[in-house]
Amino acid sequence: MSAERPELLGVGGLSTGYGAEPVLHAVDLQVRAGEMVALLGANGAGKSTLMRSLSGLHKPLQGGIHLGGVELTGLPAEQVVRLGLVLVPEGRQVFPELSVLDNIRLGAFLRPAGREQRVEEMLTRFPRLRERLHQRAGLLSGGEQQMLAIARALMSQPRVLLLDEPSLGLAPKVIAELFAALDRLRGENMTLLLVDQMAALALALADRAYVLENGQVVARGTAAEIAADPALAKAYLGAHG
Ligand code: ATP
Repeated sequence: MSAERPELLGVGGLSTGYGAEPVLHAVDLQVRAGEMVALLGANGAGKSTLMRSLSGLHKPLQGGIHLGGVELTGLPAEQVVRLGLVLVPEGRQVFPELSVLDNIRLGAFLRPAGREQRVEEMLTRFPRLRERLHQRAGLLSGGEQQMLAIARALMSQPRVLLLDEPSLGLAPKVIAELFAALDRLRGENMTLLLVDQMAALALALADRAYVLENGQVVARGTAAEIAADPALAKAYLGAHG
């Protein structure tokens, strides 16, 4: 059971913001080795800010971030990637003018050893990318770009993969394919922290989940507990109410 696995990523009392108003308030969160954890909440709840803070792209004002017992707080993004915490950012952010192959290769810039063999593994994992290997990444469909962004992240051999809204803007069929790929990663014991608006789908895959509302964790539990928790519906309704 996941409860017996050691903690890999730990976030304690994390607060941050962009100016006068804090956006995250004392967020505590834990991801154990081999777990998939879903981070749910309405638009503006602070999910992307948390993901960016974990990745070293946004400075926390207070609190700590640990990966496998190593303090990450305040480290630059490149160092965070080197230590194994890797973000697949919202909006994919592939390099549109570069080929699919070069986008994948770029993911290995910190770990070049065995690069071409790992590229081959990615093309086996995501066969659509093999078909498009020499095309410019900007010409791919949204779903293909998302697969490419995940492949690029995997090339850096993460210990924990952070996924920010991977299903955003994708057609239902493509979302199903994407979640199948995430399920496969989960089956390979990859440790995953997933932000997604598709709460039901995310909870169907996740071991545990957190609900973020106005920058605070308002519920945490197993995926089944969170699926049944009124805090989840309230957090989403809160966005429109
Ligand atoms: P979404 O699903 O819309 O991305 P989110 O839960 O990821 O929502 P964040 O993007 O983290 O939420 O935004 C949290 C709050 O921080 C919002 O009120 C947003 O307006 C504010 N915010 C986000 N980025 C910035 C920024 N660069 N400068 C100022 N305020 C920001």
